Amino acid sequence: MNPSHIEHIGIAVKNLEESIKFYEEVLGLKCYAIEEVKDQKVKTAFFKVGQTKIELLESTDSNGPIGKFIEKKGEGIHHIAFAVKNINEKLEELSNKGVRLIDQHPRNGAEGLDIAFLHPKSTLGVLTEICEDKAK
Ligand code: ZN
Repeated sequence: MNPSHIEHIGIAVKNLEESIKFYEEVLGLKCYAIEEVKDQKVKTAFFKVGQTKIELLESTDSNGPIGKFIEKKGEGIHHIAFAVKNINEKLEELSNKGVRLIDQHPRNGAEGLDIAFLHPKSTLGVLTEICEDKAK
């Protein structure tokens, strides 16, 4: 798959406002964007640490993926996202290697990225996202 870097780490939080405060006041990072991704029923806040981002995810619907995650596991790391080129080819390559795909085809993620999730059952228990910034 040859990812170029970790694009972001997704962290599920109960309260976005309070979590932003922690990241800004305690960790000293700056929230540079807040975005709602309707498709995934989340509101996200972004921080940059070098070229990697922290993506805080607050559920906007208890039946959405983050709502369910928090109900089951509580707050914490939700997924890791790797930056790749040619996401369609990468999905095909992964599928050929026996990786179970949650998304057969890329969909729209936050910040205009094309994203796709791999099933944690075939990625050692870590929900893994691959994403491509077509603008780059
Ligand atoms: Zn993500």
